[in-house]
Amino acid sequence: MKTYKIALLPGDGIGEEVCMEAVKVLRCIEEKYEVEFKITGGLIGGAAWPEYGNHFPEETKILVNNSDAILFGSVGGPVDAQFEPQWKDCEKNSILAIRKFIGASINLRPAPIFKELSHFCPLRSDIIGNESFEILVIRELSGGIYFGEHSRPTADTALDTSTYDRATIQKIAQFSFQAAQNRKKTLHSIDKANVLETSRLWREVFEAESKNWPEVKFHNLYVDNAVQQLVKWPRQFDVIACPNLFGDIISDLTSVFPGSLGMLGSASFGNKIHLYEPSGGSAPDIQGLNVANPIAQIYSAALMLRHSFEMHEAANDIDSAVLKTIQLGFRTGDIYMENKGETKLSCSDMGDKICAFI
Ligand code: NAD
Repeated sequence: MKTYKIALLPGDGIGEEVCMEAVKVLRCIEEKYEVEFKITGGLIGGAAWPEYGNHFPEETKILVNNSDAILFGSVGGPVDAQFEPQWKDCEKNSILAIRKFIGASINLRPAPIFKELSHFCPLRSDIIGNESFEILVIRELSGGIYFGEHSRPTADTALDTSTYDRATIQKIAQFSFQAAQNRKKTLHSIDKANVLETSRLWREVFEAESKNWPEVKFHNLYVDNAVQQLVKWPRQFDVIACPNLFGDIISDLTSVFPGSLGMLGSASFGNKIHLYEPSGGSAPDIQGLNVANPIAQIYSAALMLRHSFEMHEAANDIDSAVLKTIQLGFRTGDIYMENKGETKLSCSDMGDKICAFI
């Protein structure tokens, strides 16, 4: 029997509640497939501070180094004390720190748009259409302007530099074409090659890589056109590959299409180990109420099965179970609407329902 070691870092806020549901789902997968998940919990963010006086303690780093994958909840700091100065950088100190620790270089943000939830999408119904679809944004995480030099040469001038090298772009290009090949065989690469030298290199590398993927329909798009197209005709997109800065903005744009942050899982790929987490934050407004939507966390677990453990069938089982749950009208509060004949569920009941469909 195959065994995988998972570092479970629920963090604080709703992290603990939604992670419990993801663990439930993983236990169902164990029952169905010949696999064992050794899940070890660790502290991070607000959950680590009281004991360690540190957001990302050494013990958690050791746990991460001894694991095959990280399932991460969310971090914000203790709800009562978030205004205190030590919590100001909690998110930065833990999530950015752990991404750096694993050498995260590629980020995946799938945005599933369900026809059953299209009334929560801010786009008009004729634009969204009446079929479900998903847009996968793949963002380069280790280069570009976020990692360049930032300075203030004088009080009245500021400088941010952006650098990309061929190897970094090559890595995300290969990853993106492979993802497109495995899906609908369409890839849009985003740049600003009419202005930026880093974008001209980006485009050169993507165009060269496209020759290796004859089945993939490849398109280059300037970022300004891309955001217009995403709002005007989102269904034309399936996989979108972006440099760091553009990916940050575009993945936030697509994240509103599903209608709730509670529907969005994500993955960050490191040198050896990958991290899986919901796209939303610690949602302190609903912490401890058992009302959070666990689907983002459960989708993150499915991404982990697919990308860290090559368990594609099991990951598909989870995706299908979520789809069935939505199709049959089961909803947590964030995606529930009165008078539509839907069944409102708590966080834990939603986890049970998804397990039942696995
Ligand atoms: P948030 O994502 O926590 O919440 C925004 C809104 O979305 C809230 O109304 C919340 O209730 C709702 N929401 C989020 N996830 C939900 C879910 N699973 N189910 C139902 N509703 C959900 O963003 P925020 O309020 O701006 O930030 C709260 C804290 O989270 C801050 O301290 C911030 O720094 C931190 N944060 C952490 C991460 C992370 O851990 N990766 C990301 C973003 C923000």
